[in-house]
Amino acid sequence: MEYDVVVVGAGPVGSMAAKYASKGGASVLLIEEHQEIGNKACTGLISTRALDECEIGLGRWIQNRIRGAFIYSPDGTGITVDGKETKAYVIDRKIFDRELARQAVKAGADLLVKAKATGLKNGKLNIIAQGESLEVSTKIIIGADGVSSRVAKWAGLGRAKKVLGGVQIEGLYDVRDQDFVEVFVGSVAPGFFAWAVPLEDDVARIGLCATANPLQHLKKMLKSHPIVSKRYRNSRLNFEAGAIPLGPPERMVAEGLMLVGDAAAQVKPTSGGGIYTGALCAKIAGEVAAAAVKEGDTSAKRLAEYEKRWRSAIGRELSIGMKIHEAMGKLSDVDYDKVVKTLEDPEILDIISQYGDMDYPSAVVKKLILAKPRLLKLSGVFARALR
Ligand SMILES: Cc1cc2nc3c(=O)[nH]c(=O)nc-3n(C[C@H](O)[C@H](O)[C@H](O)COP(=O)(O)OP(=O)(O)OC[C@H]3O[C@@H](n4cnc5c(N)ncnc54)[C@H](O)[C@@H]3O)c2cc1C
Repeated sequence: MEYDVVVVGAGPVGSMAAKYASKGGASVLLIEEHQEIGNKACTGLISTRALDECEIGLGRWIQNRIRGAFIYSPDGTGITVDGKETKAYVIDRKIFDRELARQAVKAGADLLVKAKATGLKNGKLNIIAQGESLEVSTKIIIGADGVSSRVAKWAGLGRAKKVLGGVQIEGLYDVRDQDFVEVFVGSVAPGFFAWAVPLEDDVARIGLCATANPLQHLKKMLKSHPIVSKRYRNSRLNFEAGAIPLGPPERMVAEGLMLVGDAAAQVKPTSGGGIYTGALCAKIAGEVAAAAVKEGDTSAKRLAEYEKRWRSAIGRELSIGMKIHEAMGKLSDVDYDKVVKTLEDPEILDIISQYGDMDYPSAVVKKLILAKPRLLKLSGVFARALR
């Protein structure tokens, strides 16, 4: 078998890279180790911008529309951020991922499911496809094989700076308002946050990410958190666990090889969301791969265009996000109570509601500091946390 480009992993990011490489004129093989597309643990909350970026519009994958958030501090103070119109969607990953794969195939890519990349030798990719060993010759491999990327390992490329554990259930829950997600900060989820994302008026995805023991924290939250435990009706419909890579490695291209999506830790450190950022980077990877094949130059130097372009698109936002994430991870419950109380001012909430952007959080931070210089006092809380 021979292809210009092989994309390993048919998650949303792999499918998008395959679509763009195909559109650029390359012959593309997309492989997925599972027998079905869409196996990833995920809350499925994506911004309206992210859905646009994925180029599939509204469809059966939309489970709910979200216009804002209730944010709860450890002492139970709640603030409401109301975007007043749909700002995000909750998607069904199985249907969503499958649609993206379908778009890749429509663009010309070949797709093999239950096909696992098992090794890379002398420029050839070994695949076990439905029990059969295959050797594929290719000019470029795009590793879109997720957080535990084997392609990254084979190429000797670096890993994410940090990996968080995430756990989640779907369960019966007395949803406060179906148009709002709930976010819980503080020791309920050390190092990150917890959430309840409504699917219907009585069902939510309830979960958290943490630097350690996420499952213990989830069990504790469901049993004894003053807000969650009262609304959760002790009936889970599923359980999912996964990992979130934060902080992209220094390099993600090698000779004839690129990493993209979770495999390259292209994930927002403030929310753990990787669909928007991954899709955006995948398009660049696909375009660069096709152009490099056309030019007959698939060297690391040629493929560095991908690194340059994705970093100029979102590299700065991810590094500011990482700084915010690190600072937030060090706040105590008392610090969090102070921060939430400070934000409990109608003018401040208005600015957050107007300019809050889950894909580009640095924008609202800048707006807030310009409009309310007294918020700089909060930087004292962050500075103490970082000491
Ligand atoms: C608990 C949790 C909640 C999350 N919630 C959100 C959210 O609300 N919004 C959001 O934007 N993001 C969320 N994320 C992150 C999001 O799920 C990922 O960023 C996204 O799935 C990354 O897409 P990807 O295609 O890079 O990787 P993946 O979706 O992980 O896809 C990689 C694919 O590669 C396949 N694969 C791996 N190895 C091989 C191999 N050797 N051969 C063939 N195939 C292989 C895998 O089977 C998989 O299908 C969440 C993550 C977790 C853990």
